[in-house]
Amino acid sequence: MSHVLIIGAGGVGRVVTHKCVMNKDIFTKITLASRRLSSCKTIADELPSGAVSIEQVDADNTDELAELIERIGAKLVINVALPYQDLTIMDACLKTNISYLDTANYEHPDVAKFEYKEQWAKHEAFKEKGLLALLGSGFDPGVTNVFCAYAQKHYFDEIHTIDILDCNAGDHGYAFATNFNPEINLREVSAKGRYWEEGKWIETEPMEIKMVWDYPEVGPKDSYLLYHEEMESLVKHIKGLKRIRFFMTFGESYLTHMKCLENVGMLGIKEVEHKGQKIVPMEFLRTLLPDPASLGPRTKGLTNIGIVAEGIKDGKKKKIYIYQISDHEKCYAEVKSQGVSYTTGVPAMIGAKLMIEGKWSGQGVFNMEQFDPDIFMDELNKQGLPWQIKELD
Ligand code: NDP
Repeated sequence: MSHVLIIGAGGVGRVVTHKCVMNKDIFTKITLASRRLSSCKTIADELPSGAVSIEQVDADNTDELAELIERIGAKLVINVALPYQDLTIMDACLKTNISYLDTANYEHPDVAKFEYKEQWAKHEAFKEKGLLALLGSGFDPGVTNVFCAYAQKHYFDEIHTIDILDCNAGDHGYAFATNFNPEINLREVSAKGRYWEEGKWIETEPMEIKMVWDYPEVGPKDSYLLYHEEMESLVKHIKGLKRIRFFMTFGESYLTHMKCLENVGMLGIKEVEHKGQKIVPMEFLRTLLPDPASLGPRTKGLTNIGIVAEGIKDGKKKKIYIYQISDHEKCYAEVKSQGVSYTTGVPAMIGAKLMIEGKWSGQGVFNMEQFDPDIFMDELNKQGLPWQIKELD
């Protein structure tokens, strides 16, 4: 039905490409483009010959990308490069009149800020052209937003509190490694925490708030409050919300390594001079750490990501837990990627599928919870991310 251009041949790009090929009645032509053609070739070689075309592109360059889009005739971009490229890729879509989807909000390479402001500012431009830009179609953001919309639609008259609970209980056997792009991961984790209560954002020190949550099929895990981008859109779209928080699990070894790296300045994102050369410590650290893509074959264990929502239905208090469990080894067996890339890439493909089928349609820039959650929830069950709901006391 449509020609899709996937940008970014990394861990998530691999899953999106495999999953689009598995849905080739919808994605009738698939092009994978990345900064290095070799990254695209590695992924294309895992798939049947001719299933995927590959291209080299620097997505920081709007004109170069627009030229590629026009030359190949793509109708939709799935952006799974880095958050630094979001704005240039959105501009290339506007320039060539095609739709856009991503999984992470824009970040400036020099400022570790997580906000939708600059992407939301493009709403009128997308609207004027009658195009849809879907933001944050990964797991969190992404599926967690859809879980909230589903809870709101079917279980509550008003939701008062939401806790988003992200557990990766996978073990890759390294003392320290990140499951997705190290720069993006460490910037997120070392930033101050923030949650929203009674209309205000409340800032915490990094890892200041901890709770133990008993994750189904995983067990109790230390979970730390972080800021996470989906909260920014959810506070606008969930009725009656009084508080929203985000928690992620971290093991002792990860936190000790991270603190130590931070203390010695290895998480810095500003250039420093070293033997007459300028280097960014965080970029150098990325070179030293295992490539997240290489963790796939070694990672064992489960991920469990979900939301707990509490509120009122028909005048009575109600509390529900919606969650999804994935097994790293099963993900690897299916698409040669570990669970974190899998749980991000599958929802990106689903979002694109619904856009192409016209089941999610709109003009402008939208977040996931603004669309009907039911069809997305059905697709999760069909495409490898089955979910469960529990009523809590
Ligand atoms: P990787 O670092 O593995 O992959 C990113 C890819 O982007 C690399 O392969 C790189 O290409 C490519 N790239 C970087 N810069 C450019 C550029 N200027 N032009 C073209 N290609 C470029 O990251 P992940 O796959 O782990 O993550 C991808 C995205 O998914 C990120 O934005 C991340 O934040 C997001 N994410 C979202 C999650 C969610 O649940 N919503 C969870 C996890 C990740 P090359 O190899 O060719 O050099």
